[in-house]
Amino acid sequence: KVDDAQCTSNKVRVVARIRPSLPYEIHNHVPTACFSFTRDSPEETTLHVKDLSSRRVLGSQLGSDGSLSDTCREGTYKLDSCYNGDDEISVLFDNEVKHFLPKLFEGQNATVFAYGATGSGKTYTMQGSDGHPGLMTLAMKNILEMAAQKPNYRVEVAYYQIYNERILDLLDESNADQIKVLEDTDGKTYLRGLSQVHVETMEKFNELLVDGCLRRRVGQTGLNIVSSRSHAALVVTIVNHDNAFCHGKLNLIDLAGNEDNKKTGNEGNRLVESARINQSLFVLSNVITALNSNNPRVPYRDSKLTRILQDSLGGTSHTIMIACLNRRSYQEANQTLTIAARSRQI
Ligand code: ADP
Ligand code: MG
Repeated sequence: KVDDAQCTSNKVRVVARIRPSLPYEIHNHVPTACFSFTRDSPEETTLHVKDLSSRRVLGSQLGSDGSLSDTCREGTYKLDSCYNGDDEISVLFDNEVKHFLPKLFEGQNATVFAYGATGSGKTYTMQGSDGHPGLMTLAMKNILEMAAQKPNYRVEVAYYQIYNERILDLLDESNADQIKVLEDTDGKTYLRGLSQVHVETMEKFNELLVDGCLRRRVGQTGLNIVSSRSHAALVVTIVNHDNAFCHGKLNLIDLAGNEDNKKTGNEGNRLVESARINQSLFVLSNVITALNSNNPRVPYRDSKLTRILQDSLGGTSHTIMIACLNRRSYQEANQTLTIAARSRQI
């Protein structure tokens, strides 16, 4: 029963964010991918990517008019929208996220994913960095402002990490490995043992976020987790005191990097870990593709992440996937965009 997608599923929006080249990249590297996009309509943007590395390799093969050789790789992808990393994150927030936050107070769920290779700007987009708030901060601010006007609602925050299909609490280390994915009688999934912290102010929230991020970096006892190899999920739950069945949930997820094993030279444990990450990203993409094509068989159960998010993907939930891109590697951009376009495909 729980694997059935409702035919009325909201479409999953798939957008891209292209981070600017960093000063050291400008000094040390020739960029290997070049992006350009045109907004065809409010619902569709065409993104064009060109591989500039071939310009170097094939420099001697340039035609007399300076045109590129035929072997220059390029790709065209259709997305819902595209954002420049130079723009403030508030542009993306205002266009893509803000409008559904009031629905959380009506008991609807929402999920925002940042997806892409390591170094593409996922954490910058979701968590932000010094002086640059990310979506987590902007969403929380907006939610707390709404909650302040609604005395019968309470806002709670949880923050966890999925590493090698294990769930680790980022707000309380003492319950390591005691968190279980359970299902209640109406098929809704929840995490037993995960700490939920009541939050009323941004000061409190910032404290939690900083603590959680620190734990994410340092890793849990006995485990040396590299943050880019785990999924991190911040969950904001809107609890309605008058109606225990009407909880709205917002999941803000910084996914593990979709690395290319051949390139990173992974071996042994790393390879197993990589296979698990790629498997769970693959399952996620399959779930989104199934939802977007109204396929009744949605493979939620094939990974921990999608199992947990079962009630927050599809149906009346609002879902956005942000494909994060950088100019460093055409190959990585191509891989991220292929999955993005496949997820969006109807
Ligand atoms: P990821 O989480 O995908 O591995 P990060 O978010 O850590 O990538 O970003 C990699 C680097 O690029 C960081 O130094 C970050 O500060 C910088 N960066 C990412 N996105 C932007 C952006 N939109 N504008 C400026 N700097 C960015
Ligand atoms: Mg990161």
